[in-house]
Amino acid sequence: MSTENTMSADIENGPTVLDGKATAKAVRADVAVGAARLTELGRAPGLTVVLVGDDPASQVYVRSKDKAATEAGFVVNTIRLGADAPQSEIEAAVDSLNADDSVDGILVQLPLPKGLDSDAVIERIDPGKDVDGLTATSVARLAMGRDGMVPCTPAGCVEILNRHGIDLSGKDVVVIGRSQLVGKPFAQLALARNATVTICHSRTRDLAAHCRNADVIVAAVGVAKLVQGDWVKPGAVVLDVGINRGEDGKLVGDVDYAAAATRASAITPVPGGIGPMTIAMLLSNTLRASALRQGIELAG
Ligand code: NAD
Repeated sequence: MSTENTMSADIENGPTVLDGKATAKAVRADVAVGAARLTELGRAPGLTVVLVGDDPASQVYVRSKDKAATEAGFVVNTIRLGADAPQSEIEAAVDSLNADDSVDGILVQLPLPKGLDSDAVIERIDPGKDVDGLTATSVARLAMGRDGMVPCTPAGCVEILNRHGIDLSGKDVVVIGRSQLVGKPFAQLALARNATVTICHSRTRDLAAHCRNADVIVAAVGVAKLVQGDWVKPGAVVLDVGINRGEDGKLVGDVDYAAAATRASAITPVPGGIGPMTIAMLLSNTLRASALRQGIELAG
């Protein structure tokens, strides 16, 4: 889809719903093909997750990552450490995974329990195995426009746009949120794709005005329905990264979906938008890390 040519038609017919579930499924199928090739020519990609403590949300995330990676043909392991594990034990676990040739991707599930220094743990990960793209080396490579590991959620935002033919070149992109995990890396990716990028945050004076000028809005805040329908320029593309619990207990994004959908040309729902893309991109990053480490070229 070309956002410029089909803009008015899209609004009349309702927006293109950017279906993260279906798109992630397609990404995972491609990854499975790549993993089968690596298995044939070398060995299956290896992903190890380090899970510290018993945070229920983290357990759920780790289970879904394990399931998706296993289905894609990866060798998946989880190292579980108690909530009282000292910093040195977690760092030693990362060191041993760095040294293990069968491990291509290391993922430390965040947040770590209080009192632990997650920056120091992340920084210990071999950048070649940093499939979450969080080490200083990965961050610097992204900022410099060099090849490297890109954090999974912003990579998922770009992938869903790519797979729907939405080009960022020349577009005015407003990113709401400046986190290390989503906002900042997405802004770098958009800049590298020749967008004109504005990063808004909690101290931005007139968020609505910035949004009203945007061709693309990416909301990564964590405030339910922050982005109002009338902040969306007719024909704009809206990516909603936020995951919040509404008053009724249901998941809602950072965008008032029903109102925004009456004006947007394309929009991601919550749930079923960027969430599923995040896990798919973890698999994609791990596949790439494995191919590079094994010296095997994959098509595409
Ligand atoms: P964060 O808390 O680290 O950052 C939030 C950002 O929003 C900050 O930069 C802050 O300045 C900005 N902000 C806060 N209030 C604001 C306001 N009123 N107006 C404008 N900006 C404001 O959060 P994060 O880790 O980037 O996550 C953001 C949201 O995305 C959360 O809801 C999180 O659950 C969700 N998330 C989803 C996925 C996924 O896979 N879909 C992955 C990561 C995060």
